[in-house]
Amino acid sequence: MDSKYLNTMNIPSELLDEIQHNIEEIISNFDVPTDNKMDVIRKINFIYSQSKYLSITDELTGLYNRRHFESNFEREFLRAKRYNSNLSVAIVDIDFFKQINDKYGHLTGDFVLRELAFILKDSLRKTDMVFRYGGEEFAILLTETDSEQSLIPLERLRKYIETKTFVKSGNSIKFTVSIGVSSNIIETNTPNELLELADKALYKAKNSGRNQVIAN
Ligand code: GH3
Ligand code: MG
Ligand code: MG
Repeated sequence: MDSKYLNTMNIPSELLDEIQHNIEEIISNFDVPTDNKMDVIRKINFIYSQSKYLSITDELTGLYNRRHFESNFEREFLRAKRYNSNLSVAIVDIDFFKQINDKYGHLTGDFVLRELAFILKDSLRKTDMVFRYGGEEFAILLTETDSEQSLIPLERLRKYIETKTFVKSGNSIKFTVSIGVSSNIIETNTPNELLELADKALYKAKNSGRNQVIAN
């Protein structure tokens, strides 16, 4: 592919808003018959919206992807720092997910990921954001939420998943999740530092028997 196009694909998603604005301005000054103008704008809008959607969405689960997590996390972290407000970041990791793939096959593994994505989205507040961070790991941003408050929905989530049976192609599948969370805005200087604390908490949860929520 031409490097010019590859470069275009690396544009951060927040810049795409600006691009759309520019395109509209160009079109409005473009010398097309007035009758066709709206048609051209509609087409460009459609192409823009589609690429914007694809740039922030995880294909398998329909959740926001890691790229979108990074930009939202940075924004929320800076906001929490500036206004001295609370923010919690959680990482949810399926326990022994490899065994589900090995036992029931990759397609059933994919099914489990989609089911979990639905549960995560469904069980949290509208203001909380859920992302597929990677493989079988999900990130959650809980705005205006301190450590103690974060444990309530996360623990509820953990318990709910523990009790649920997922049925796919005649198989009854059960699994658990481990969750690490951190809300320590005060002692961290970058979003990455906060994420590392959540990751350490997840590591602790994994090493102390899994199926638990640990705050760091
Ligand atoms: P742990 O409890 O320590 O987290 O164990 P685990 O088996 O969940 O973790 P591990 O990192 O060993 O395995 C993760 C597995 O997730 C391996 C990989 O094949 C699988 N995986 C990653 N992405 C996908 C996907 O999109 N679909 C499916 N079906 N499997 C995936
Ligand atoms: Mg993992
Ligand atoms: Mg896992």
